[in-house]
Amino acid sequence: MIISKPFLTVEQIQNRVRELAAEISEDYKGKEILSVGILRGAFIFFADIVRLIQVPMEIDFLNVSSYMKTETSGEIKIHTDLREDIKDKDVLLIEDIVDTGLTLNYIRNRLLSRQPASLKICAFLDKKPRRRVEVPLDYIGFEIPDEYIVGYGLDYDNKFRNLPYIAIFKKNI
Ligand code: 5GP
Repeated sequence: MIISKPFLTVEQIQNRVRELAAEISEDYKGKEILSVGILRGAFIFFADIVRLIQVPMEIDFLNVSSYMKTETSGEIKIHTDLREDIKDKDVLLIEDIVDTGLTLNYIRNRLLSRQPASLKICAFLDKKPRRRVEVPLDYIGFEIPDEYIVGYGLDYDNKFRNLPYIAIFKKNI
């Protein structure tokens, strides 16, 4: 099992998060957002970006799982649903990584059925080559190649989430 040197450094991450937050703050000027973090992977990205977004906001979390080790199981389990009613609210979904798109597509449809005023998606990492369903992404941190990534909230077997940077994970050398 090996972890690469930083694929995205702390500095690269911080700079991009700052840019995304500025863009979001501009787009939502004069509005109030309900930011929804998707746990567990997005917890660090969520904490970083919400502190830089300069519009009033409420926050909530969805705790879901969709991955078994490094393979997509194709099944999405909702462990904890939202506490807030999202009807007529401007919802910003904040996700760590979009791979096949199955998880986000499921969550998006589930939330849209609750009739928010708007629903936008901010994903820190976009693994585009792996996409199986198209999901509209409004804000993307970085597009990355088809590699398994850990760190900055992302895990392998619930480990490595606390790495401050993003690294490539290889199970077998
Ligand atoms: P999707 O449903 O788009 O295939 O998968 C989305 C979820 O799979 C993400 O929220 C994340 O939890 C997990 N995932 C996808 N790719 C990676 C990866 O490269 N590293 C890690 N740690 N998790 C990933």
